[in-house]
Amino acid sequence: MEEKIVHNVIIIGSGPAGFTAALYAGRANLKPIVFEGLQPGGQLTITTDVENYPGFEHGILGPELMDIMRRQAQRFGAECIYKIVDKIDFSPHPFKVYADGEEYLGKTVIISTGASAKLLGLPSEAEYMGYGVSACATCDGFFFKDQRIIVIGGGDTAMEEAIYLTKFGKEITIVHRRDEYRASKIMLDRAKSNPKIKFLENTVMVEVLGKSENGKKIVTGARLKNVNTGQEFIHNCEGIFLGIGHKPNTEIFKGIIDLEINGYIKTKKSSTETNIPGIFACGDAQDYTYRQAATAAGTGCMAAIDAERYLEHLKHNEP
Ligand code: NDP
Repeated sequence: MEEKIVHNVIIIGSGPAGFTAALYAGRANLKPIVFEGLQPGGQLTITTDVENYPGFEHGILGPELMDIMRRQAQRFGAECIYKIVDKIDFSPHPFKVYADGEEYLGKTVIISTGASAKLLGLPSEAEYMGYGVSACATCDGFFFKDQRIIVIGGGDTAMEEAIYLTKFGKEITIVHRRDEYRASKIMLDRAKSNPKIKFLENTVMVEVLGKSENGKKIVTGARLKNVNTGQEFIHNCEGIFLGIGHKPNTEIFKGIIDLEINGYIKTKKSSTETNIPGIFACGDAQDYTYRQAATAAGTGCMAAIDAERYLEHLKHNEP
């Protein structure tokens, strides 16, 4: 019977964390394999200009940056696999990772599955997603030239989205469920001083309103509710952006490795080690504080170094 390959390093996820881990593991001659997942290249592939990634003085497009990172990792022997990991078994060693029904074995696993935008969970939100409802201003803002837009949320994401959308929309209304904001003072001040941005506080969206025009669904407004008075009212608009935060893509690890209460993967202080020796986590799946491409790349680098040290330790302790 053919013996199965046991990979040194299996990387799950292909954002800046995953590709940096792949680059370092590749250069350490560990021949890592990278599962690219649902969104190859990660969240940066749905952004436009990235101006705060070091080394690109004049900025770079998100998808282009991710292509470069992928090629750089491949140059050192990383193998990219365009599959989604849907099951894992970390109880035996080597660890088992399943993608499209196929089993892969790894001496170490680096989790870099990232995070995704949160949604409200309204049926009408799902119905109009992509037809006027969006969770990514940089991806879809362009489609709302001279239109009325609402942005839901009171954190930095909502402020950033609203400010960005003023480049396109004629009127942006931030709808926030409280009258206090999680957003940093500087971002809130910037949004408040922008003449195109208005605020509706103590207000939630209860329904996305829309219709079909020439066979295509369009948004016509939102049914909003004042949480203090309970009064509902209609706000006419063509675009609705969700800016209510992100959730880590860690569903498949629930009950298998230790997670924080908010679902992010628990790692040891100043390390990428999880509670299972040989399993490491980096990037937005583990970091809910900084969530930057540069910090994700940094923790990806840490994960590869941690994995390399673990493999060395295994080698010296193997019977
Ligand atoms: P936050 O958790 O900070 O804010 C989420 C906002 O959405 C809150 O105002 C919250 O309301 C609201 N919200 C959450 N769920 C719902 C819901 N179901 N219905 C209505 N409103 C809801 O997330 P962010 O993504 O804004 O920020 C996360 C981190 O990323 C922060 O540390 C932030 O500083 C950082 N960041 C930094 C940026 C920058 O510096 N350029 C840009 C974007 C993010 P409530 O307050 O009532 O809970």
